[in-house]
Amino acid sequence: MLVFKTKSELKEHLQPAISKKNIGFVPTMGALHQGHISLVKKAKQENEIVVVSIFVNPTQFNNASDLTNYPKTIDADLKMLEEANCDVVFIPSVEEIYDENVNSENFEFDGLEKEMEGKFRPGHFDGVGTVVKKLFEIVRPTNAYFGEKDFQQLQIIKKMVVKNNLPVNVIGCSIFRESDGLAMSSRNMRLTQEQREASPFIHKVLLEAKSLFINEKGNGICKWVTEQFENQPELELEYFIIADEENLKEMKTINENVKYRAFIAVFAGEIRLIDNISLT
Ligand code: AMP
Repeated sequence: MLVFKTKSELKEHLQPAISKKNIGFVPTMGALHQGHISLVKKAKQENEIVVVSIFVNPTQFNNASDLTNYPKTIDADLKMLEEANCDVVFIPSVEEIYDENVNSENFEFDGLEKEMEGKFRPGHFDGVGTVVKKLFEIVRPTNAYFGEKDFQQLQIIKKMVVKNNLPVNVIGCSIFRESDGLAMSSRNMRLTQEQREASPFIHKVLLEAKSLFINEKGNGICKWVTEQFENQPELELEYFIIADEENLKEMKTINENVKYRAFIAVFAGEIRLIDNISLT
């Protein structure tokens, strides 16, 4: 496994492979867990070369302490990637990606950026779009892998690729969970024992919301979910929304031809956890 810190070294290494071999790319912010590794394994199955980037992107953090406290476990990350047979790791500095200009481009993703995370994390998706576009330009992947854990992000990247005519296939990967149902996340390692024990409740509620949706066609589910969190001292519900998977607009009345998904954001202390589930 080769590790590069500069764009020029990485590009030089990948140059001979471009348009001859499939390059699979998995962008991450490090503090890797088996959710990330599931993306790497899928990329390994479908490509001759797999590149993983580890870069904590400052422009996508709307909360300064979240950025400062974002976990960094680089030695363990490299070990996990080596074990997953990753070929190339790119670990750039902030200057390497942004030069002097640590700012986001302003994107328009046909309104996808205005829903859910877009409302609660202003500027977040401009930061994500900016860094992913830059990384795509550097790596020039054939296929890029993103988790459904961040479903809105996945839809936004797909939109960015179509709108900018970028030559890359964006591939969504299912959510990888702990055995108790909690969606794996780098932020989970910051949970206290009490918070960690409380947090599988998030997935449990999503599963129950799904069966309510199937049996009762959506009536009163949001109210029911809100009530469930009232008895959870460790968890504070930020939002629960049922939305159209394609345009992410909140469901008002059920349309039989639309695929719906439930989205949730919850605070455990100051740690923000998100999850989602397909309802159809
Ligand atoms: P992050 O390091 O949190 O930016 O995540 C890097 C990539 O891994 C993103 O595409 C995430 O959606 C994906 N990812 C993170 N956690 C999971 C998970 N539990 N299951 C599947 N994909 C995930």
